[in-house]
Amino acid sequence: MNIILLGPPGAGKGTQASRLEDERGMVQLSTGDMLRAAVKAGTPVGLKAKAVMEAGELVSDEIVSGIIGERLDELGDETGAIFDGYPRTAPQAASLDTILAERGRTLDHVIELVVDEDALVERITGRFTCASCGEGYHDKFKLPAVAETCDQCGAHEFKRRPDDNEETVRTRMTEYRAKTAPILPIYEARGLVKRVDGMADIAHVTDAIEAILDGRG
Ligand code: ADP
Ligand code: ADP
Ligand code: ZN
Repeated sequence: MNIILLGPPGAGKGTQASRLEDERGMVQLSTGDMLRAAVKAGTPVGLKAKAVMEAGELVSDEIVSGIIGERLDELGDETGAIFDGYPRTAPQAASLDTILAERGRTLDHVIELVVDEDALVERITGRFTCASCGEGYHDKFKLPAVAETCDQCGAHEFKRRPDDNEETVRTRMTEYRAKTAPILPIYEARGLVKRVDGMADIAHVTDAIEAILDGRG
């Protein structure tokens, strides 16, 4: 099974991808995470991507499609992929078709997380993650069960993304509307798009996605 989680910044793609990993043994392929790792490691890709990401603009199609293909090759043939934050443009959607076909994979569902734009700034500005394992949290909607202790790994250090500020979020939302939302009709024409209410509780959103994956939704 190969699926795309689609939605604006803060819609809950990463949160849901990580829950599906835990519950279904699928693997999350997040181009945002891959690019942040490249920036941190100071690789050539990271050096090119850093300023673009900080501005909230999109990294080039060639770079992201290249890294997604490489990462897919590391997965066993039986392991399902959850594409999180990719594709984000029509050329990336076309590249993904090729990348999947070359590996004998097919796309099963494109799940759109539908959210109120007004909620996104609050989601993004309250977002933080465990510095050790990357588990995602929120100041208001998902605090660790024990204060300042990661639920998953027990670590005490957390971090916030430099691009998770209100100004950059606005740019990222504009990019989403201009370049990413237009890929939905491509998948709609192929009968692949399923909509999920991304404003529901985190667990309810997961239930709705699982219903789709199980053919109940
Ligand atoms: P969010 O889920 O909050 O939208 P991501 O972690 O997916 O953020 O992406 C962070 C940044 O990384 C984006 O603003 C963009 O600069 C870059 N990026 C991630 N994925 C892509 C992609 N598929 N194409 C182009 N740029 C990307
Ligand atoms: P994306 O990957 O789409 O950018 P995230 O999964 O990182 O979004 O979610 C953004 C923030 O909103 C995180 O802090 C997360 O804990 C929180 N969040 C995610 N889903 C929900 C939800 N259904 N209700 C409330 N908060 C949520
Ligand atoms: Zn942790």
